[in-house]
Amino acid sequence: MSRVFNFSAGPAALPLEVLETAQRELLDYRGTGMSVMEMSHRSKAFIEIAESATADLKALLEIPDDYQLLFLQGGATTQFAMVPMNLLQDRTTADYVNTGSWSKKAIAEAGRFCSVNVVASGEDRNFSYIPDVDGWSLNPDAAYLHICSNETIGGVQFQDFPDASAPLVADMSSDILSRPLDVSRFALIYAGAQKNIGPAGLTVVIVRKDLLGRARAGTPSMLDYAVHAEAGSMSNTPPTYAWYLAGLVFQWLKARGGLDAIAATNRRKSSKLYDAVDQSNFYQCPVEPSVRSSMNVPFTLADDALDAAFLSGAETRGLTNLKGHRSVGGMRASIYNAVPEAAVDALVDYMGEFERDNG
Ligand SMILES: *Cc1c(COP(=O)(O)O)cnc(C)c1O
Repeated sequence: MSRVFNFSAGPAALPLEVLETAQRELLDYRGTGMSVMEMSHRSKAFIEIAESATADLKALLEIPDDYQLLFLQGGATTQFAMVPMNLLQDRTTADYVNTGSWSKKAIAEAGRFCSVNVVASGEDRNFSYIPDVDGWSLNPDAAYLHICSNETIGGVQFQDFPDASAPLVADMSSDILSRPLDVSRFALIYAGAQKNIGPAGLTVVIVRKDLLGRARAGTPSMLDYAVHAEAGSMSNTPPTYAWYLAGLVFQWLKARGGLDAIAATNRRKSSKLYDAVDQSNFYQCPVEPSVRSSMNVPFTLADDALDAAFLSGAETRGLTNLKGHRSVGGMRASIYNAVPEAAVDALVDYMGEFERDNG
């Protein structure tokens, strides 16, 4: 077996220990004689899996009791619609901060349901910064304020969250569980699983309970948070295997000391990479230092004619999925929780070597 260092933006690397546990339990889950994939979501064994995953996530994020945790399908993209459908209530407008590609998609979808007030945008500088909160044009009539805590493509990440009077909603798909979080500052948090939680097909929603049960008229029941809350996320068949794997990831995080410990590791990993970029004239990071993401690190080479050689050299060293998004160019190293520090060390070594040979 040979495993690569996988810098994929998503679906992304999973902890090796989690995959090994899943492999051991694949054919006969703890004496049930069947795989988790083959068991009823109503079975005792699966209910236990679901309940312990829920309890572990609650513990990791210290989610207060007045919040509901939901394990849904449809990806973060479905949340772009579910948020306005459930949270607009009697309002007709919502505030959105436009910090990058994912914010833009959320804004476009919300525009199908209400008038969107873009309070600030980083688009004038190709999303390399987050406009200062003092300059945001918040609307007092907004039903909520939406942010994307970490822009997976541009690599900008909120370091502090805004204090707004409107309920704060955050797309945390690519940085949930990367650092401690004060959930009580948010009305709703959502995240597709395939970056920092588990495999694709699962979406986690954390919503304050008083916001449930007020979906707009005509909302399909599958898009109504209250329906899922009422049914314990089993209003229909949930993505059972993804939920099980997410539970293994939560146990893995707990065993590693929880979010304080993983945040320290993430800071060390991202600093190594940004330092390597900043200490060289050959590599550059387009993102303003104060908002650089600890999860997605975009960087460019001095000459983009060398991109292909950089990527193929990386590939031969087992460093994969480093090609940047076309909107930014160059490279992007996604270094989520499950990407080991050794992967970052190997990348930094390779970058130094490539610069010596080509710089
Ligand atoms: C990946 C991603 C999405 C889209 O998630 P899907 O599960 O593909 O719908 C949305 N927002 C952010 C920040 C992402 O990283």
